[in-house]
Amino acid sequence: MKQPDAIASFIKDENGFIIVGHINPDGDCIGSVLGLGRGLMRLGKDVRMVLTDAVPEVYRYLAGSEDIESAAGFCCAYTNVIYLDCAEQQRCGDELAAQLRQQACHTVCIDHHISNLGFAEFNWVDPQATATAELVYELLKKLDATFAPDITDPLCVGILQDTGFFHHSNAGADTLRLAAELMDNGANLHETYLRLYESMSVAEMMLHSRAIGSLKLSPDQRVAWMQITAADLKELDAEKIFPEDLVSKGLAVRSVEVGLLFREVAADKIKVSLRAKHDTDVAMVAESFGGGGHRKAAGVTMQGSLDACIEQVLAKLREVMEA
Ligand code: 5GP
Ligand code: MN
Repeated sequence: MKQPDAIASFIKDENGFIIVGHINPDGDCIGSVLGLGRGLMRLGKDVRMVLTDAVPEVYRYLAGSEDIESAAGFCCAYTNVIYLDCAEQQRCGDELAAQLRQQACHTVCIDHHISNLGFAEFNWVDPQATATAELVYELLKKLDATFAPDITDPLCVGILQDTGFFHHSNAGADTLRLAAELMDNGANLHETYLRLYESMSVAEMMLHSRAIGSLKLSPDQRVAWMQITAADLKELDAEKIFPEDLVSKGLAVRSVEVGLLFREVAADKIKVSLRAKHDTDVAMVAESFGGGGHRKAAGVTMQGSLDACIEQVLAKLREVMEA
């Protein structure tokens, strides 16, 4: 049996599901968790949705986002766990990962990261999918789910996030057809645009301005990097902001092939975001430091000072670009 069918039949036969996404949740993570969570609830299933990190402010307008529970103190007797957008089991957060390993009897993983080696009992990993939300939608169709905006809006958020509102190279005609189907089923594309791209807090805008102000270019101008220090975050009261999308700003420069963002999330803890315009495999760079992602969009959290991390990543990137 093909994995999507096996997963659909497993879900039909079982009840009581814990749905989990990754740390630093982005639009695809939140959209997939909510879309599947609401979809399964509509089918009469008992579902709990849990994340290690809080739902970022920008996604809190989505119906049901308040039902996503925090991993701290999470207690649930269900033994079926569905991991979404997680290339590895630990991507859901170390403590939650350990807790779920203890209690899970059956595990499902639905993901689109090429680095996913299949850690679950049922794995549906499709690197051709633009977003995990796309696979969740396919699954819900297999389950004969009925769609309404509370399901299609979050799925739309996932697809829009991972295609950069249809402008990344992964967005094809099929993506647009899928989005059209979601719209036919109630998703509001314009409202999603306003919520995702024109709803920043002033603090976030100031953070962007500060980061862009820090932009540096390699001598050949093919690499652009920005940094956000812990002091910036504190001063701007922006510690809870996840400004990952900002990294693509560096790509706006014509000569730039790779854009990087280094964010000091704590002392000696640096979150690095990497984006490529054409052929550079930035996942390879992230993986060499223990992170991962896609060829053109990857990330990693490193230990060390901001300067040391910048130096190490630039050196590895140079190696990859010259290979
Ligand atoms: P972002 O820069 O937006 O955080 O991440 C870009 C891509 O890299 C996303 O697909 C994300 O899932 C992946 N990614 C980011 N950080 C990590 C990490 O620490 N480990 C792994 N395996 N993937 C990551
Ligand atoms: Mn994704």
